[in-house]
Amino acid sequence: MTISARRFVAAALAAGLLASSMNATAQEFGYLGETGPDFWSTLNPDWAACSSGEIQSPVNLLPQRTWPKLDINYSDSTGEIFNNGHTVEVEVIAGANTLVLDGVAYELSQFHFHGPSEHRVGGRGYDMEMHLVHTSAAGTNAVIGVFLKRGTSSGTLAPIFAELPSIEVEDVHYEVEGSFNPADFLPRSRAHYRYLGSLTTPRCTEGVEWLVMTQPVTVLDEDIAQFAAQISFNARPTQRNVPARPSKP
Ligand SMILES: [Zn+2]
Repeated sequence: MTISARRFVAAALAAGLLASSMNATAQEFGYLGETGPDFWSTLNPDWAACSSGEIQSPVNLLPQRTWPKLDINYSDSTGEIFNNGHTVEVEVIAGANTLVLDGVAYELSQFHFHGPSEHRVGGRGYDMEMHLVHTSAAGTNAVIGVFLKRGTSSGTLAPIFAELPSIEVEDVHYEVEGSFNPADFLPRSRAHYRYLGSLTTPRCTEGVEWLVMTQPVTVLDEDIAQFAAQISFNARPTQRNVPARPSKP
């Protein structure tokens, strides 16, 4: 146990232990077998959209046009990292990080990872995918997807991946060392595909604005392996093909 050497969040620890003790009775979803994506809608009536929805995500993007600009205003932020059993997530604690889409402001609440990627482009997937989840005042979501592919460096994501070995207790929140600006996690080019879809985990809620960056960022083999050691596989299959055209010019 290395918990004593780590700064964990006491309140979240208590909540985490409570959540863990409830896991035996709570409905759980997974990625393989009888709790896998094909069965999500049968596990909980609130998750019906996972099978009855008509604009489900992720998708195979058939690129026809990309958007060149991303209207983001991100700043230095702090966060808490944890393994919730489905992914490794960083909850943004302090910092104003706004995405504006068609005049609507969405605030970044958390980012998390999938391995391998959930979205595909022209049938091609990547080693991993990061989702930056934003929420509007009305409660609607906009998610920026960033593909991660193996390379010679984990770049600006290195400090995040460096936290992985020491978050071994599920649902316990740990402070991320230092601060980070989420803008640094994005590829240099802001070009992206855009389409209307859903959350890729139950409840599979639809009406999610998806912005999938066209350029990947790199991540080290060992970081991909570290993530896989904690979360063996957490990619929902693509649900449809989408010509990634803008909803309006
Ligand atoms: Zn996700």
